[in-house]
Order: sequence, then C-alpha cells, then structure tokens
Amino acid sequence: MRWNLDALYPYFDSSEFQGDMKRCEEEIQEIIQWAEANFTTHDKPVEKIEVYMERQNRFFHLYTRLLSFGELSLSVNAKDERALRVVEHLEARETELAKPMVMFQKWIGELDDLEKVIASSKRLEEHLFYLMEIKKNGKYLLSEGEEILVAKMKNTGSNAWSKLQELLSSTLLVDINIDGEDKKLPLPVVRNMAYAKDAALRKKAYEAELKSYEKVAESSGASLNGIKGEVITLSKMRGYGSVLEKTLMDSRMDQETLDAMLTAMVESLPTFHRYYRRKAELLGHENGLPFYDLFAPMGDVKMEFTYEEAKDFIVKNFRSFSDTLANYAAHAFEKGWIDAEPREGKRGGAFCSNLHVIKESRILSNFTGTFNDVSTLAHELGHGYHGHCLNDETYLNSDYPMPIAETASIFCETIIQKAALKGASEEEVFAILESSLMGAGQVIVDIYSRFLFERELFKRREEGSLSVEELKEMMIRAQKEAYGNGLDHHVLHPYMWVCKPHYYYGEANYYNFPYAFGLLFAKGLYAEYMKRGTKFIKEYDQLLSITGKKSIADVASTMGIDIRQADFWRSSLKIIEDDIEAFIALKK
Ligand SMILES: [Zn+2]
Repeated sequence: MRWNLDALYPYFDSSEFQGDMKRCEEEIQEIIQWAEANFTTHDKPVEKIEVYMERQNRFFHLYTRLLSFGELSLSVNAKDERALRVVEHLEARETELAKPMVMFQKWIGELDDLEKVIASSKRLEEHLFYLMEIKKNGKYLLSEGEEILVAKMKNTGSNAWSKLQELLSSTLLVDINIDGEDKKLPLPVVRNMAYAKDAALRKKAYEAELKSYEKVAESSGASLNGIKGEVITLSKMRGYGSVLEKTLMDSRMDQETLDAMLTAMVESLPTFHRYYRRKAELLGHENGLPFYDLFAPMGDVKMEFTYEEAKDFIVKNFRSFSDTLANYAAHAFEKGWIDAEPREGKRGGAFCSNLHVIKESRILSNFTGTFNDVSTLAHELGHGYHGHCLNDETYLNSDYPMPIAETASIFCETIIQKAALKGASEEEVFAILESSLMGAGQVIVDIYSRFLFERELFKRREEGSLSVEELKEMMIRAQKEAYGNGLDHHVLHPYMWVCKPHYYYGEANYYNFPYAFGLLFAKGLYAEYMKRGTKFIKEYDQLLSITGKKSIADVASTMGIDIRQADFWRSSLKIIEDDIEAFIALKK
C-alpha cells in the first residue's frame, strides 16, 4: 500500500538527482541568456519559436521530475526537511523564468504574421493553440517596468492580504463547551463537527463557529476589500472588460458557455430544494434544513472493503467501461503507483500527480475501507487516466484549464457509484445517494450562491469598500436565492466569505463556477455514454487527449457536444435530478 518513486530518482543524494539539479540550474541560465539575445530582433521567427519551445519542454521535463520527487516525498513524510528544502529551492528558482516568458509574450505579440509563421513549420502547427493563446494573453501585458513594479507591489498588496487572512483563519480558536468543559478549538476541528452523528453537537458547533468569526470579521473584511480592490484596478489597467472576462479567458471558456450552464443550473434549483426539504423532514425540521444540518450524516450502513476488494471492485467495474481504463487502473495498483496506507506524518486527503516526463502517475490516498475511500481511489485513478491519455502530447500541449480538470475523475467516480448502487441493499442505496447528493448540492447550489456573492462584490467594490454588515447581508441574500426554501432562512451562514479561502486569491477570481463546470461536464459526458454506448469510448479517450490544446468549447465539439446550449447542461443535471427523485422515493 505504499508507492515506489524509483522511476523518478533513487534518493536525494543519488548522482542522478544531483546531476539533474545541476542541469536544471544551467537550463534556467541558458534560457534567460538565450531570450535576452534573441527576443530583441524579429528575424528568423520560426527558428526562434522552435528553439524556445524546445528549451521550455526540456526544462519542464527536468523541473517537474525534480519537483515531483520532492513534493511526493514530502507528502508522505511532512518531517522530511530535505524534501522541503528541495521543493522551496526549486519553486524559487522557477520564478526566474517569468522574465524570459514575458519577453517571449511581448515578442510574439509584435509579430504581425504569426499565423503564417506557424503554418510554415509542422512543429509550430502542433502548438498552434498554445502560441495563439500566448499572443492573445500578451495583449493584456503592461510595460516591462510596470509588470515588475506590479509583481513587487503584489507582495505587499494582495499577497500580503491573503497571508493575513490565512493567518487569521489558521490561528482562530473557537470557544465551545463540550461535555461540560469549556474548550478553545481550531476552526477546522469545529467545522468538521458538521459531519458528527450527534445532532446537538452539530448545532452547538455551528453557533460557536459563527460567534468566533466576530473576532476576525473586521480584519477579514479589510483583506477582502484590499484584494478585490487591487484585482479591479489591475483588470482595468490591463484592458479586460471585467474581472469575470479574465477568469473565463484563463479557463478557456466563454460567456455564452457560462450563461448556458447557469441557465440550466437555475432551472434545476427547485429540485435541489426538494432534496434539502426532504433531508430536513427526515431530520425532524419543519421549515427547511438549518445550515448546520447540511452535512448531517444519514443512514446507518457499513459498507466495508479491504484494499484488495477495493482494487478488484474498481478494476472490474472500470472494465465494464473499457479495457484500456481497467488495464490502466490494474497497472497502477500493481506497479506501486498508489500510496494508500494512512500513517503518521503523511498528509490527509487524496491527490493524483501525473508525471508526464516518465508517462506514469502517482496517487496518494488515505484508505480506511469505507465506500467513500473506494470512490476516492476511483476519482484519483480518473485523474491518472486523463494523464495517461495525454502521454503522447508534448509537455506544453498537456496543460489543461481548471474547469476541465475534473472530467475524467468524476466520470470514473460515476462509474463506481452506479456499480455500487446496483448490488446494494435499500439502506445502502439510501446512504450512497445521500452522500452523493450532499456533494452535488455543494457544487451546484452552494457554488451558485458563491458566484452570486462574488458578482455583487465586484460590482459594489468598484464604488468603494464594503462594511462587514454589507458583506454579511450580501452573503445571506445569495444563500436565500440559491437555496430557496431548501434551507431554513433563519439559520443561514452570513460569514461564508470569511471561511472560504477562495475569495482571497488575487490571481484566481470567481474560483467557484469551474467546480460546477467540472461536475456537470463529466455528468453530461456520462449521459452521452449512456446514449451512444461503446461508440462513445474511443471518442472519450480522444477528447481527453486534446484537453491541453483547444478551448473547452472546441474540445467538446469534437464529440458533437455544444456546451453553449443549455440543453447539454440540462442532460447533465438530469442525472443528479434522477438521483434526487430516487432518494425522495426511497424513504416514502
Ligand atoms: Zn479531483
């Protein structure tokens, strides 16, 4: 149940690792010198672009190999100081490449016949999307001096505000009385009590949590105003129509797609409200679900799996989809690509790291034998399979944007969930559906409330800073609109803007709708799979393999799917709505 990293390096002091560290440093220096010497004139454009891309591909192979070795080592042993030093060193060194990259962007922007240049080389044609995107994004660059100034000022601006917010929430202690004893507990511990079986504890934890935010609300509000203010200023200076436009461009999405998705989401809200009201009823509430019971566990089933059983269950059900997927998963289990054993010093949760350079992946999870753990493994294997489909692409053509990153993972999770439902007892069906709907509700309904909040925040922040009271009111309004009568309007969460870190990333705004996109795109593909049968499988692999070199709408259109039409999103939501109907019918 532990992974093997030998395919990357034997150990930090090995001659392979040390040699690559040296080469990596040399590559950085060479790229900088080369860029300075070559991006000053516009002669020999084909040759220059080819050389620069080649150098980048080479550098990133080396860099990601070194960095992955450090990061993966650290993820299973937080006390590995050597690994930590390596990771920090590499990350700091990589920032040196920002300068040649900006030079390249500017230089490409000045070429007036870029399309013609690209068309004259097969190598460049392969990277058409990558190069055109660089040119497009380059239009929003400021002058070199301004860019340097902005980068430096961010360290004392948005980055400093983010750090402050992180500090506030990570050191915030919540006063709570448990079993007659007054305690001061960290915020995540108290928030986690939302999943407790004890109903009184869930309520008490929620009340204590809300109370604790009063201690940091003013400072959090100042951080939020500071960050969003800077984002608005920069977005205007760079010439974006709006902050949302920039996020959409970074996501390789367009407004039409977002509108189509939101239309379908809003239409489906009443069905989600029925789910919440049903859950409320089952928990004994009359006026919809109180916020503190959103995550209340329901049903009392124990579906236990040994690791071996989990592996067999996954491989067998993946095979009902395709041999390639099943063989990939079996290979990952057998070749030591998965670290599933929980142990001291290892980080929590789960992730998948795709190692493009060696055409392998490594998966970390903390397997305890629940159905949820099996589902998580399937999810991460989905990420790995996505990487597998990208193996034959160059490094520069294998980088996909956030909204499409969860496609393969959620698709695999769906396969496993459907399989588990087939052989399950009524009690088990209830538990599986409930936990899946709880998750979907977060990604559709809660994410919609966050989108509404952020949209209003940007609109009003332009006029000036917002007070804590205003932020609270806006959050409540957004929750009422999204959750409708599903939630009890007297028991909402006015401080969600304090507790979610996503609002505090200066570089990633509207860090919400991509989650909904991810879930719904995967579900929509699953709906297509149900319709098209085996014909779908080849097209699906093909789709995954081009996710790094097309806009998302173009990726989808290769399968004849039009994501600018609400109908596609309706078919995605239909899958979840069917689950809601099944859930409601069950306990009748
Ligand atoms: Zn994921």
